[in-house]
Amino acid sequence: MSESVNTCVVLAQRPDGMPTADCWRVETRPLPAPAEGEVLVAIETISIDPAMRAWMNEFCYVGCVGLGETMWGFAVGEVVASRHPGFVPGDKVRGLLGVQAFSVISGDELEKLEVLDEPLSNHLSIYGMTGLTAYFGITDLVEVRPGLEVLVSTAAGAVGSVVAQIAKLRGARVVGIAGGPDKCRFCIDQLGMDDCVDYKAGELEAQLHKAMPGGVDIYFDNVGVPTLDIVLNQMNEFGSIIVCGAINQFQNMDEVRGPTEYLRIPERKLSMLGFTYFHYAERFPEGVAALREWVASGQVKFFEDHMRGLENFPAHFIKLFTGAHRGKLCISP
Ligand code: NAP
Repeated sequence: MSESVNTCVVLAQRPDGMPTADCWRVETRPLPAPAEGEVLVAIETISIDPAMRAWMNEFCYVGCVGLGETMWGFAVGEVVASRHPGFVPGDKVRGLLGVQAFSVISGDELEKLEVLDEPLSNHLSIYGMTGLTAYFGITDLVEVRPGLEVLVSTAAGAVGSVVAQIAKLRGARVVGIAGGPDKCRFCIDQLGMDDCVDYKAGELEAQLHKAMPGGVDIYFDNVGVPTLDIVLNQMNEFGSIIVCGAINQFQNMDEVRGPTEYLRIPERKLSMLGFTYFHYAERFPEGVAALREWVASGQVKFFEDHMRGLENFPAHFIKLFTGAHRGKLCISP
């Protein structure tokens, strides 16, 4: 690819429910030279995140992708040309670079990365949004300690897999919720969970009773209802629910539903604590340092599912909702 043209995945139409391939089209567009203060970045890897589904709607609290606009996406890459004093060609960077091959972006919106002997994509997964969401969500909002029973949904995914391992490191007994027997086996064998229940097999309430007969002290919720309602009934007194995400609600954000079993909250003096990764921006270095130590010592493992070719973006993106992946979903131009 020459650097005067760019390949971009643009939003062609807004989805009604689950996105279909025709929601996007791949376009070749002229690539402008960077203006004063801007940087040209060759994108290496793009993060595929559930938030992208919300950005495709007409309304979203952080704003939305316009029709015909390049899909937004966090990505990492290398500086090719710079007219910003903070960057020189060869620098490795991260930012909201978009689902495209190259990005021309203000240097003020770019973050220079310190890349050790590791794939750059690790700065989207374990040292990026998902790893840091897991770290702050399970270390800052609750005190995980030996004797506690921790339950984690989307347990084989990018955030859930890291949450579960950190909770184990802190001495808790950890149970995952995941879709399908293979994923549950992966959670136990590869991620060290004490047990894992397959919500796709049905009878989740009975399965949870069996896996956690002593009840749930901390629930790290990535899914929302109806799973949340089932878990609320199994929470122990003074327990905590960390509201990280609600992927089960993503296809109909106009009618997001809360739990019907919410009276368990006062009855059992439960806490529901919400957060986003952005709330911890000033503490990212602390999170990266802790995760680096655990990764180096082999105490935290992480997995990335890579695909090459922007034409494969729709099929790869949908895996977030079908569950046909493990760990962090990424794509490269
Ligand atoms: P991920 O877990 O790697 O992928 C999503 C997983 O969700 C799928 O693999 C699938 O796993 C499961 N899933 C999809 N549709 C579902 C449904 N209807 N019901 C139950 N499970 C479903 O994705 P991720 O990037 O780590 O994100 C996980 C959650 O964290 C999302 O809710 C996301 O919004 C949230 N998040 C929050 C923040 C924050 O700042 N608060 C930041 C990043 C992510 P199964 O095969 O097991 O079903």
